[in-house]
Amino acid sequence: MPSLYYSPASTSRQRIRSNIVGRLSVLVFLLLLAPLAIVNCLISLIEGRSPWRRSVAAQGLSFPEFQSGWLRDQWALLLIVRGHLTWFDGSTVNAGDTLIQSEGLVNERKLHALSGLAQDASNDCLGMGARGASYLDKTLLLLRYGLAKLFYTDSQGKHSKQISLFGIEINNLTMTQAVDALLSPVLFNGNGNGNGNGNDRTRTACFVNVNSFNLARKNPALHRAINQADIVLADGSGVRLAAQRKGTALAENVNGTDLLPHLCCQAVQKSLCVFLLGGQNGVADEAATKLRALFPGLKIVGTQHGYFSPSESQGVVEQINATNADIVLVALGSPNQEAWLEANKHCLNARVGIAVGGLFDFFSGRIPRAPLWLRELGMEWVWRLMQEPKAKFKRYVLGNPAFLYRILRHKNDI
Ligand code: UDP
Repeated sequence: MPSLYYSPASTSRQRIRSNIVGRLSVLVFLLLLAPLAIVNCLISLIEGRSPWRRSVAAQGLSFPEFQSGWLRDQWALLLIVRGHLTWFDGSTVNAGDTLIQSEGLVNERKLHALSGLAQDASNDCLGMGARGASYLDKTLLLLRYGLAKLFYTDSQGKHSKQISLFGIEINNLTMTQAVDALLSPVLFNGNGNGNGNGNDRTRTACFVNVNSFNLARKNPALHRAINQADIVLADGSGVRLAAQRKGTALAENVNGTDLLPHLCCQAVQKSLCVFLLGGQNGVADEAATKLRALFPGLKIVGTQHGYFSPSESQGVVEQINATNADIVLVALGSPNQEAWLEANKHCLNARVGIAVGGLFDFFSGRIPRAPLWLRELGMEWVWRLMQEPKAKFKRYVLGNPAFLYRILRHKNDI
C-alpha cells in the first residue's frame, strides 16, 4: 500500500525547516518521557537485569531499547536528532553520502501492526478511506501511535499457528489466510480444531472476542461449541492483550466486519453463493442489498431473519439447502449462533457456516461502524457501547474489566 505520507522530494528550504521542527519535537518528547525512562530503569534494576539492550529500527539502524516498562523504544527518537530517521514517511534523510526518502518512525502501517488491524483496513468498504497529510493529521497519527504503544507491544512473542487461551483453541491467522481457510475446498485442519470429519459436512467457523471468553467461562456448552468449530478466529484487542500476556503474538485482528469484504470479493471471483441468516426482520435483506451494490456479481441466494423457534430450525436448514448456498453467514448472537451451527453442520449442504454476530446490523447501515481511529486503538467497543448503551452495558462495562482482571491476575492460567 503506498504510504499516506509520501510527498515528492522537498525543496532544501522545506527540508531544513522540517528537520529543525522534527529535532526540536524529539527533545520535547524525550523531556516528557523522562519520568517514564526513570521508571523503566527502576523496573529493570528490581528485576536484576541491565536497563538496556540494542534494538534495530527502520533501515537497520540500531538504538538502545529499555528491557522493561513502557514505551521501551523511546530512544529510537535519537535517530531523528541524528538525522538518520524522520517522524513520518517520505521525508529526506542522510544515508551515507546520499539523501533518501525515509520510512518514518511512525506510520499507519506500523500502527495497524501494533493494534493488529488488518493492513488494508483503512481501505475497507465502509468508507474509511485514506486521508490527507496535514500537520493536524500527522499530530493525530502520532497521538494514536503513542496511545497504541502504551497498550500493545510489537509482535515479539512466540508466533504459532494455533494459540490456546483459557482452554479455547484459536487459529492464529492473518485476514488473507483466514479467508483462504474458510473458502478452501478441503477442510482446514492445520490446527486440531474440529472433529476431523473430512469434507462430508459443512465446516464451521466463529470469531472469539472478550465477550465470547466471558460467556464461555460460565457456559461449558459454548466453550465446547467454539472448540468444535473448524476455524476459530481472534477478534479484538482484548484477545490480543491476553495472547500478549501469555507471551504469544497474534497475527492480526480478524473480526467479521473487516473480513466480510474480503470474503465477498473471493465469493465473486469463485462464483460462490451466500445465504444470510439472522438479525431482525428485514435487516438481512437490507444487508444483502448493500452488499450486492458494493460487490457487483455477488450471489446472495437467500436471507432469513434470526428470530425463529427451535422447532422451526429444521425448516430453516431446508430453506438454506434449497438455495444451494456455499457460504452461510449466521448472525444469531452468542451463544445461539455457535450452538446452531454445531447442531446443524451435519444437515447443511453449504461449504462453510460462519458465526458472525451483529454483522448484518453494520452492513445494512442500521448501526454505523466505529471510525478508523478508534479501531486503530482497539477500542471499537467504546463506539458500540455508545450506540447501544443499555444493550451493551453488561458486555463492555462489566465484562471488559472482568476479563482484564482475569488476564492480569491469573497469568499462568491463560
Ligand atoms: N439475533 C438474532 N436472533 C436472536 C438473537 C439475536 O438474529 O435470537 C441477532 C441480533 O438481531 C443481532 C445479532 O444477532 O443482529 C447479534 O448481535 P450482537 O451485537 O450481539 O453480536 P456481536 O457481533 O456483538 O457478537
